[in-house]
Amino acid sequence: MTTAVASFEALRRRLTGALAEPGEPLYAELTPGFNVAITATPAAVVEARDARDVAEAVRFAAATGRAVAVQATGHGLVTTLDGAILVHTGRLDECVVHPEGWARAGAGVRWQQVLDAAAPHGLAPLCGSAPGVGVVGYTTGGGLGPVARTFGWASDRVRAIEIVTGDGVPRRATAVDEPELFWGVRGGKGALGIVTALEFDLVPLASVYAGALYFAGADTSAVVHRWSQWSSALPAEATTSLALLQLPPMPDVPEPLAGRFTVAVRFAWTGTPESGEAVLAPMRAVAAPLIDAVRTIPYASIGLVHADPAGPMPVIEETDLLTSLPAEAVDALLAVAGPDARSPQVMVELRRLGGALAATPPHPSALCHWDAAFVLTVIGVPVPPIADAIVPHAAAVRSALAPWATGGALPNHGAAAGAERIARSYDPETLARLTLLAERYDPANVLRAGQVPVR
Ligand SMILES: Cc1cc2nc3c(=O)[nH]c(=O)nc-3n(C[C@H](O)[C@H](O)[C@H](O)COP(=O)(O)OP(=O)(O)OC[C@H]3O[C@@H](n4cnc5c(N)ncnc54)[C@H](O)[C@@H]3O)c2cc1C
Repeated sequence: MTTAVASFEALRRRLTGALAEPGEPLYAELTPGFNVAITATPAAVVEARDARDVAEAVRFAAATGRAVAVQATGHGLVTTLDGAILVHTGRLDECVVHPEGWARAGAGVRWQQVLDAAAPHGLAPLCGSAPGVGVVGYTTGGGLGPVARTFGWASDRVRAIEIVTGDGVPRRATAVDEPELFWGVRGGKGALGIVTALEFDLVPLASVYAGALYFAGADTSAVVHRWSQWSSALPAEATTSLALLQLPPMPDVPEPLAGRFTVAVRFAWTGTPESGEAVLAPMRAVAAPLIDAVRTIPYASIGLVHADPAGPMPVIEETDLLTSLPAEAVDALLAVAGPDARSPQVMVELRRLGGALAATPPHPSALCHWDAAFVLTVIGVPVPPIADAIVPHAAAVRSALAPWATGGALPNHGAAAGAERIARSYDPETLARLTLLAERYDPANVLRAGQVPVR
């Protein structure tokens, strides 16, 4: 028996949950992520049952010179986690909605669970486009959702964070208690510790006038040019994004969209349906949509707006933030990613920021770049024969829009490991402050929570 195996036995005995090593069925069950282009190969996986299990794993990692990583759903896996101890939080599934307007969710909870628990009270969490994404990974990265221009970033709705910091100590951080930790976890993802539960405000919203208009590839230029102008004058009740799509023929893809170039205009309106219809009218009038799926829906069905794939699938993602999208930028984008450009990407997406997203946050956080105008995301599926074309083409898209790029990126979008990516996620002051906090809360530098190594 090797020392490593013997020492994992010591950790196993201290846990309430299970510990799995390569070759065990539980290891195979817990390691795959959403993005199957990356295979996680940690040295062991701890299936945490409570915060004590998380603390045991973190202390053990420090004592044995290993790194520790965290995963709830695998939607944000960016590295192989070789040699690390992976804390799997899926069993931390407590989800309590308080009718007076807030919720508490364990680190393993996905958004659909909160949506379903909040709906009977006419309340809504600020989830993202895909309800299968985890509450904690999403919220600690800022959290940009389909009604974000009305209600802002999910990370600004956090009331309290329960976390095991890198020194193995369980803590509770609020704006008043441990305020530095409260600042750094919101936007800093796993840089300072492994969150075990979050408490956050809900908003009163039972239904929304929302969905997507899907247009034919031939209408792309007219649709994108109109959208760039129309979206610049929208009130904060409206949140919108646009996607250039090349969806494969698959069971979940509607026939008019399968195997061809189309354009989706997503729209979510938090005012009355009548006023939403009037606001959307100029986009409906650009061309006859192939599918018009904008209507009043229960907020618990908000996943319909983007209709993201539930996965798993292989994905390569790139991102940028933009200052603006003038007509020259639209032309530059369409030259490289329009219907005649032979783009290999499944999706090139622009989300319009602004509205409540650009307001000064109630409590400052480590989330940077909240005042950008657009998020660009390029997503390719690396399968033959286009696999090798995806990375250079994504670089060409970024290069075409470089004159309008801020140089920054959001932590949740196009997440990747490495210093270059970290430098794009945070401004220099925020990175310096996060690094100081990491030295305080993770003195042995054990945390490898995704793209986060700030040191
Ligand atoms: C289909 C899809 C749609 C998406 N839509 C949106 C969107 O609309 N808006 C948006 O903002 N983002 C979106 N994202 C990005 C998503 O928010 C991030 O990938 C997020 O990190 C996923 O969290 P997770 O827990 O589901 O994934 P995981 O892979 O389990 O975790 C990813 C990372 O989150 C952090 N993390 C997770 N759990 C903890 C914890 N307990 N403590 C500390 N850190 C933790 C770590 O850095 C970890 O590496 C989307 C991603 C996908 C795949």
